Amino acid sequence: MIAAEKSLGLTADCVDVSYENKRLIQFKPAFGGGIVARISSRTKPEMATVRPGMFKKKISNSNFDVETIRVEDSGEYEVIKTDLVESKFMPVNKAAVVLGIGRGVKSRADIEKVVKFCEENHIAAGASRPVVDMRMMPRQTQIGITGTSISPDLYVAIGVAGMDYHMAGLRYAKTILAINNNPEAPINHLADYVCNCDAVEFINRISTDHQ
Ligand SMILES: Cc1cc2nc3c(=O)[nH]c(=O)nc-3n(C[C@H](O)[C@H](O)[C@H](O)COP(=O)(O)OP(=O)(O)OC[C@H]3O[C@@H](n4cnc5c(N)ncnc54)[C@H](O)[C@@H]3O)c2cc1C
Repeated sequence: MIAAEKSLGLTADCVDVSYENKRLIQFKPAFGGGIVARISSRTKPEMATVRPGMFKKKISNSNFDVETIRVEDSGEYEVIKTDLVESKFMPVNKAAVVLGIGRGVKSRADIEKVVKFCEENHIAAGASRPVVDMRMMPRQTQIGITGTSISPDLYVAIGVAGMDYHMAGLRYAKTILAINNNPEAPINHLADYVCNCDAVEFINRISTDHQ
């Protein structure tokens, strides 16, 4: 509303921003997440909103007053019924521990085992984009620049390569454990701990040990 009132450009829901040559560069997924566009505004001040979780909150030292404005109900709509959609998937951005399923986990049966393990242990099950695109996990579990940005205490990446677009959603993960059978996988250089082993072996081990 402020941008419209002041006739300023606004890039909403950015996944990142940077400051280059005195310009605010705004990064925003476009074309259904097919690209991440670099946007700079033609108007000043440049305005952008960022997606939740993309940055850590900073507490300002300055004293300022905050005015909270409540929007009045226009009375032009009516809530007929509210149904909460049940989901067995814990929100990935609310959990202390997240298990991320990558394309290295190849079968639905193995994904089910991970999901069940998560359900029973109060852990969130997440996924990389290809796994979501293949409809093996629901869209709300996607971690990354065009998914959700998470900040768990522990992220266990099972069969995840560690590509930039995925890792952008893990900026604030405290500890990353990578389970990958390729010693050269990029995630091995980004994780705190690496287990060079087969994803299925790992999944079977955690499922059995848990029983
Ligand atoms: C604009 C854009 C936005 C994107 N946004 C996102 C996003 O938000 N989130 C996201 O995740 N991706 C996103 N991507 C896709 C991203 O670039 C990568 O392609 C994707 O993250 C790779 O997923 P992956 O690691 O599961 O699969 P792969 O790249 O296929 O990696 C699989 C990994 O599993 C390992 N592996 C294979 N078999 C086994 C086994 N048996 N045991 C153990 N390890 C094994 C392999 O060594 C490999 O490292 C985006 C891409 C674009 C272009």
